[in-house]
Amino acid sequence: MISKKEILAWLHRYREVLAENKEYLTGLDAAIGDADHGINMDRGFGAVEKKLDGVADKDIGTILKTVGMTLVTTVGGAGGPLYGTFFLKAGMTLSGKNELTAEDMVAALNSAIEGVKMRGKATTGEKTMLDALVPALEAMQKSVADGGDIHAALVAATTAAEEGMKATIPMLATKGRASYLGERSIGHQDPGATSSYLMLKTAAETIGVS
Ligand code: ADP
Ligand code: MG
Repeated sequence: MISKKEILAWLHRYREVLAENKEYLTGLDAAIGDADHGINMDRGFGAVEKKLDGVADKDIGTILKTVGMTLVTTVGGAGGPLYGTFFLKAGMTLSGKNELTAEDMVAALNSAIEGVKMRGKATTGEKTMLDALVPALEAMQKSVADGGDIHAALVAATTAAEEGMKATIPMLATKGRASYLGERSIGHQDPGATSSYLMLKTAAETIGVS
């Protein structure tokens, strides 16, 4: 089972990871966007950090919905609202839960991704965060189906997300600001896929490790 404490540890650590990677993510966005992805994520999770203590007694669904709402209201552009939707949908799926099974984790990631797809009108192969998230979900589902524990499933998801992130390099962007570049978007790693990989990597480092 995943405890609420682990979820909070993951969110606190992801906030730190984003601060550490602020310039890296912004640099990736400078190549194919408007050089703000690291700034956006750092600002969003900086605001999340301030809210977490106030909801630490609530259920996991409420905690994740609070993260989502905070991102939607504090981050402009495409990335913030898309991550906001991701956490809102995950939180809705986990409503009332104070600990999670592997199946809950898979269901939450699935609905979070469905939310991003719907809000962004996007799918895989378009050089977005979905190119890290969707392979991660598939690897997680396979790991759980094969009897892997929660940590093994998160490690599998992280490996798949890293491959998916790297696979965005040769892709042509057809969604978001990067699509304005057309062919010139080819050869650069997508910033949103990179922050999504970091999110899963952080989960694998903080959840199910004891
Ligand atoms: P903005 O593009 O408004 O400056 P950010 O720089 O914070 O916002 O985020 C850019 C990232 O958002 C991209 O790297 C990509 O992964 C993701 N993204 C952009 N548009 C979409 C979309 N329609 N669907 C899914 N993800 C998207
Ligand atoms: Mg940007």
